[in-house]
Amino acid sequence: MINNKNAPTYKIAKKLNNILKQQLQLENEYNTQNSESLACSLPTIKVNENHKMATFDIKDLYVNIPMEETLKITEQQLMKNNDKQKTKQIIAILHTILWQNYFEYQDTIYHPSKGVAMGSPISGTVAKIFLQHIENRQIKQLLDAKVITFYTRYVDDILIIYDTNKTTTDKMKTHIDHIHQNIKLMPTFENNTQINFLDILITRKKNELNINIYRKPTTTYITINYRLNHPMEQKIAAYRYYINRMITFPMNIENKRKEWNIIRRIAHNNNFPINIIKELKNCIEQNKTHQKRKYNKKWATFTYYTPKIRKVTNLFEQTGIRIAFKSNNNIQQIIRHKENIRTEQYNRSSIYALTCKTCKQKYTGQTSRDLRQGYQEHMRYIRGNNPQSAFAQHILNHRHEYGKIEEIMTLLEHINHTPSLTPYEQYFIQTPHQQNKLIAEQSPGEYNPLIQLAIDTTHKLQ
Ligand SMILES: [Zn+2]
Repeated sequence: MINNKNAPTYKIAKKLNNILKQQLQLENEYNTQNSESLACSLPTIKVNENHKMATFDIKDLYVNIPMEETLKITEQQLMKNNDKQKTKQIIAILHTILWQNYFEYQDTIYHPSKGVAMGSPISGTVAKIFLQHIENRQIKQLLDAKVITFYTRYVDDILIIYDTNKTTTDKMKTHIDHIHQNIKLMPTFENNTQINFLDILITRKKNELNINIYRKPTTTYITINYRLNHPMEQKIAAYRYYINRMITFPMNIENKRKEWNIIRRIAHNNNFPINIIKELKNCIEQNKTHQKRKYNKKWATFTYYTPKIRKVTNLFEQTGIRIAFKSNNNIQQIIRHKENIRTEQYNRSSIYALTCKTCKQKYTGQTSRDLRQGYQEHMRYIRGNNPQSAFAQHILNHRHEYGKIEEIMTLLEHINHTPSLTPYEQYFIQTPHQQNKLIAEQSPGEYNPLIQLAIDTTHKLQ
């Protein structure tokens, strides 16, 4: 995941996102907001034995959104409610933001020609504009022709019900393949009248759909262990979610009973006393029947070091400020990626050597910026198959191996005085040259008696 928060256009993207939402009135006609509401609506759908279910997973949605096309779609949509000038302004800003989708990975900067930046506030809206446009054309046609009797999408997961009187599974595949060249859909067809979508297991009966909770075979059944020093609210959060879902999903009594057993088993595996879970269930059931309690607007966050912190937070009970706890002992914080520590020695203009990992021959170079940038430049040439530097030429011609900066790059001398870089480079190039260790692609330069004198003197001094 690429973090877009420090991007130059982050703030304007946030602002423009709100403007777009207001101006476009995206209908969300073919979307589902969450699995709960879908689970509740599925049993109301009428089906017969000719109907079949399929799910599609949009492959790499965000990186495949065509930018120029989406800009055109947005422009057309905006023109419906706005004058030309305003539309033009919005599109110009959107264009600038969308092209800010570059990212850095392992010291190299990439700028893809399609796709929106992950984490940009506008990416979700742009994906919506593009997908809803396709749906309004392609899917609407199929729905109108009653080839498909039901279609819904949750972000990049799609569920459809199609009529085998009007189409076949193979035809369905072809339809789907031709929806858009940028959209690759990975199909799954129902197996033995069953299919799973999000966390819903759907079973097609004669005239209706039955639903149950679907758990991936890889589900681990691990929640925060009861014995750990975490605030109680966080420890039971997972169970609150499970129990809520069990109550809300319109499952039959038998499935509900099974689900309750699963929840109890998960609780047991994570050392929860069973009466805590039972109490929680009662509590949730009562809250469902009564109206939801009032929520105060203001929140304060406390770090939960020990249970004693409650003595402090209890003081806020009557104030209307709600307390949230955060922990500082979770795995995310322990394994969080640490910024590369750029070592001091890489940071100045210098003369350096690059050693080929295969033949150990050396290249000598200078950089007026810093070693890392010098290194990256060679790497760009090599990866781009562009023999612009003698080192890149050597690696590419011989198919020799290069390595990481710390493996192949050696600092020979820091040179603070930039005009001296070239003479020093000529000086340093002579040593590998005279030892037959200079790569053949690099020219050692013309014989220079002054440099020879310097080398001889250094040798004598050593
Ligand atoms: Zn080599």
